[in-house]
Amino acid sequence: MNPTLKYLIGYPPDVLARVSQLVDEGRLAETVQRRYPDAHEVRTDRALYDYVLALKNEHLRRAEPLSKVVYDQKLKIIQHALGTHTMVSRVQGNKLKAKREIRVASLFKQAPARFLRMIVVHELAHLKEREHDRAFYALCISMEPDYHQLEFDLRLWLTALELDAAADGTD
Ligand SMILES: [Zn+2]
Repeated sequence: MNPTLKYLIGYPPDVLARVSQLVDEGRLAETVQRRYPDAHEVRTDRALYDYVLALKNEHLRRAEPLSKVVYDQKLKIIQHALGTHTMVSRVQGNKLKAKREIRVASLFKQAPARFLRMIVVHELAHLKEREHDRAFYALCISMEPDYHQLEFDLRLWLTALELDAAADGTD
């Protein structure tokens, strides 16, 4: 397999072959761009917090409150399915208090609007479902019906970015 397709591990061979072809023709980036032309304005941690909270209030009002929502420069994209949700346990007095944090890779500041939404949906779903199992994806789809398509296209976008960086010799 083309080593640049690491974001697409696990997808069927015919799908990978089509992607390889787009890569070879130099058309991957423009294909994704054409499908997702809309950018977003969620550029700061404050804006991200508001954005996440609005989605949470719409779909998961009764899930635990969020203590922190930030863009994280150091986050390795694929490390945990594209984002991280952490539960930080702190002892407060004699009570162990769980704090929910959502970190989104800074790269998403530049992502098409629908990819940001997808990653936030993913992280919010973890407030209720810890594993990437059936229940988890059902919850993602209840919040964003195109979830699976968006995740796949996000992987294409990441692949295109990486190819671009490699071509610039900055990778
Ligand atoms: Zn996850």
